Amino acid sequence: MSGTFVGMPAFPKAAHEAVQNVTLRRNLRHATHTIRDKRAVAVAELDDWDQLREAGKQIKDHTLSRLDHYLVQLEESVTAAGGTVHWAADADEANRIVADLVKATGESEVVKVKSMATQEIGLNEALEAEGIAAYETDLAELIVQLGKDRPSHILVPAIHRNREEIRDIFRSEMSAWGRPAPDNLTDSPAELAEAARLHLREKFLRAKVGISGANFMVAETGTLVVVESEGNGRMCLTLPETLISVVGIEKVVPTWQDLEVFLQTLPRSSTAERMNPYTSMWTGTTEADGPKTFHLVLLDNGRTATLADEVGRQALRCIRCSACLNVCPVYERAGGHAYGSVYPGPIGAILTPQLRGTQSEVDASLPYASSLCGACYDVCPVAIDIPEVLVHLREQVADQGGKGHRLEKVAIKAATWVLDNPAVLAVGERVAAKTRKLHPRKIPGPGASQWTNSRDLPEMPAEPFRDWWKKNRT
Ligand code: SF4
Repeated sequence: MSGTFVGMPAFPKAAHEAVQNVTLRRNLRHATHTIRDKRAVAVAELDDWDQLREAGKQIKDHTLSRLDHYLVQLEESVTAAGGTVHWAADADEANRIVADLVKATGESEVVKVKSMATQEIGLNEALEAEGIAAYETDLAELIVQLGKDRPSHILVPAIHRNREEIRDIFRSEMSAWGRPAPDNLTDSPAELAEAARLHLREKFLRAKVGISGANFMVAETGTLVVVESEGNGRMCLTLPETLISVVGIEKVVPTWQDLEVFLQTLPRSSTAERMNPYTSMWTGTTEADGPKTFHLVLLDNGRTATLADEVGRQALRCIRCSACLNVCPVYERAGGHAYGSVYPGPIGAILTPQLRGTQSEVDASLPYASSLCGACYDVCPVAIDIPEVLVHLREQVADQGGKGHRLEKVAIKAATWVLDNPAVLAVGERVAAKTRKLHPRKIPGPGASQWTNSRDLPEMPAEPFRDWWKKNRT
């Protein structure tokens, strides 16, 4: 995945620092509560929400079970419609393909519509290294790019910024990237949007190459779909002469009709809208309309490894609606940066360690970034059982070893031996009862003391239960 987040500390440390930031917590609480309340209303409007959710789950599971077949079908459909398909095994290969395609056009700048896949592979940085400037055109992505920041939410990447901060970023940074912000720019949403619109418009009109992701790819027709709310996607997808789409292989669906389900569940789960303001679909190239050249880069980058895991593969059903982030008590307090990848929140806690593996300290910490309350599962429109995958990944991390886990294993082994030997258990209980006045109220040691810092150790009774039972009931 992207090098963008390299150097981030493991989740507990990053979260500890993030929760000290009062402005961040206030911004996040306000934004997530607003979106989650609206989503609940939008979902409640549909009597058949549960059936739609089940249909979405089944379509995705079926597609994943025959992914090889549908990807080949997609390639044939895209090729027949005039597009060119490229296969990228990892981030480096995808970046190389895209950079070569852009260089072949002779251009040195591209416009982009928000794409998690290109963030995942660090495409902007790779293009920059080749002397190609990539301009983000989604408002929130623009804020992140101008602020030399990192996205912290799937849908609202600048959710950690408030209006005053955005005004300051526009005032100080826009001029270095193109049309400057007006001198008297205030923090009114209308003025901020207008400044962004004017700044971006000159880029849309000049750009010869557009880069996108896609929310869905239809195997039977070779159609790609992007849903968005600002119209910047429509501009990126239609104005440039060359369009390059970088899409994860799990985004394919078999038929056009399958979109019926997702185009209902995605907008209600993400922006709490009945339908997206802009739903753009394109199939290859069309004479005298839209880009003359279309390239589709199909990205693996850890997805087939994820598919091989029977429990973990359900993460590939994700349609990136971000509903799980907005209900997560951990995300609400820690914010998105603490997750150390472009996929924050509950989905990031299960997707990132599968795409990247759990060898690094950051990735091994992610399955623990959850209270396992289950709110994420309840709202997920494709019924991903995130708590189940979290526990599964914790098991993998524990099996990997590490200091804390080795001690834990020794303790569990000792407990198993004692519980398997009733006589030993009885002696142990009596000794513990006799010495109970001497028991510490907190367990010493770096790991265990954290546990007892916020919890009371239960008090040992004066008499073990089995002795009391003998005396009173036999
Ligand atoms: S895991 Fe489910 S709720 Fe979370 S972003 Fe993906 S589809 Fe949405």
